[in-house]
Amino acid sequence: MPLGPSSGDGTRCVHGGRPDPGPGLPTHPGPVLSSTFDLGVGPDLPTDFYGRAGNPTWRALESAIGELDGGECVVFASGMAAIAAVLRLGALKGDLVLPSDGYYLARSLAQAELGPLGVGIRTAPTGPVPDVRGAGLVLVETPSNPGLDVTDIAAVAAAAHAAGALLAVDNTTCTPLGQRPLELGADLVVASDTKALSGHGDVVLGHVSTRDPALAAALREARTRSGAIPGPMEAWLVHRGLGTLDLRLARQAENARAVAELLLDRPGVTDVRWPGLPSDPAHAVAARQMRRWNGLLRFTLPSVDAVARFLEASQLVASETSFGGLRSSADRRARWGDDVAPGTLRFSAGCEDTADLVADVARALDTAVRAEN
Ligand code: PLP
Repeated sequence: MPLGPSSGDGTRCVHGGRPDPGPGLPTHPGPVLSSTFDLGVGPDLPTDFYGRAGNPTWRALESAIGELDGGECVVFASGMAAIAAVLRLGALKGDLVLPSDGYYLARSLAQAELGPLGVGIRTAPTGPVPDVRGAGLVLVETPSNPGLDVTDIAAVAAAAHAAGALLAVDNTTCTPLGQRPLELGADLVVASDTKALSGHGDVVLGHVSTRDPALAAALREARTRSGAIPGPMEAWLVHRGLGTLDLRLARQAENARAVAELLLDRPGVTDVRWPGLPSDPAHAVAARQMRRWNGLLRFTLPSVDAVARFLEASQLVASETSFGGLRSSADRRARWGDDVAPGTLRFSAGCEDTADLVADVARALDTAVRAEN
């Protein structure tokens, strides 16, 4: 059955990028582990000619992700490699406007490597439409990591386009099932597929998707020049993980809702944010532009010690700086320099049974907060 706009999320995840069947061909082809390809003897290069320029395993994954994003996908070695390619492209057009409260390395890369070359760099908080005058590229991250604030993508797209700038949206926290920025007017969607899209905590990879063939070609050329390429094995692992994204996201969102509701009236817990909560300040915009919720929330415990006690007491929540995986995890973001309270945790709800996770978090919180009093 060909995939189309009426196919459901699960069907797209399971079948996207699969090869046409044929007698004697593998129905689940493995990774093509080759740096070299037979060039033939004619004047024209075949599609694959060298492992830094192209690989059939990348293309299978690009086809699957591109179909979900609604654009043409270009995979990169990591989310940061994808962001770097996008920022360099934008810097050719004008200033860069970046989130002041999003993933810190995007800012750090621009400030450390592009600013000294004369590129203008400005930052703006997630939420309001930023000042985009003079911008070549505006990057927003929504919901943002770790604050989980939300920006109205369509409103920023209109402002960016009126100023002649491109809009790129970091869609890592949502995945393409949770939000389709290209449909909301973004020119580029960029993501770390290290997180929920691959989902098993065993691979680092990123991608950019766009509907503009010239931008897609520029990104492919940039990837070949910079060598920021994923290994075929990594691309294959991400494709395999993508097959269960629909199922994982459903459980993660269910678990996030249950944990967020538990936290809301828990003594010692403040600052609970999950855009799926009707009481969340970002709920209205998030509900308008997101297709479904995910497993990422944040909350604050009274102290660094309380966080340590919480993580030690929990049997299901790993202390880990990534998110979107099978197993629940939490990360104290101030340790990375994020501008949040010392006890603020980014919490990634995994795929455990909801009752088990809620009971474990409740128990661990009791231990953490009792000792505080
Ligand atoms: N964007 C966001 C929102 C992230 O959270 C991260 C990593 O945590 C990245 C980009 C970078 O991705 P990667 O670690 O795959 O390079």
